[in-house]
Amino acid sequence: MHRYRLPGRAYNPGMSSCLFCRIVSGDIPATRVYEDDLLVAFNDITPQAPMHVLIVPRAHVATLNDLGPEHDVVVGAMIRRAAAIAADHGFADGGFRTVFNCNAAAGQTVFHVHLHVLGGRTMTWPPG
Ligand code: AMP
Ligand code: ZN
Repeated sequence: MHRYRLPGRAYNPGMSSCLFCRIVSGDIPATRVYEDDLLVAFNDITPQAPMHVLIVPRAHVATLNDLGPEHDVVVGAMIRRAAAIAADHGFADGGFRTVFNCNAAAGQTVFHVHLHVLGGRTMTWPPG
């Protein structure tokens, strides 16, 4: 099977079974909306709002429980990128939702930390 890898994107050895590592490496296609040295942002395949972007660190981290101080920079960058992407879509002033799901009770299904960025409709509270 041909495995394509775009130049300049680090592959995460040993994480070939992680869906988001495979998206980061280019092994599985996704509609990327932003990327830099630390993170990749791409459209959710099952959008729950007109804008539904996922922001993931390039490096594999399974859940929020696995974050250490060495991840503070990338997590900060993810949150600031969420605001920038929402602003690009025109949702800065009207509002948008950011969500990190952690483990089963929260509904985490992909065990590579990701920040959901949702906008374009009115969000309800409390969340489901
Ligand atoms: P969570 O339930 O918080 O773990 O979120 C996982 C998200 O990944 C869900 O919103 C899925 O729709 C999304 N997802 C699953 N597979 C893909 C994929 N191949 N490309 C983009 N998003 C995906
Ligand atoms: Zn991963």
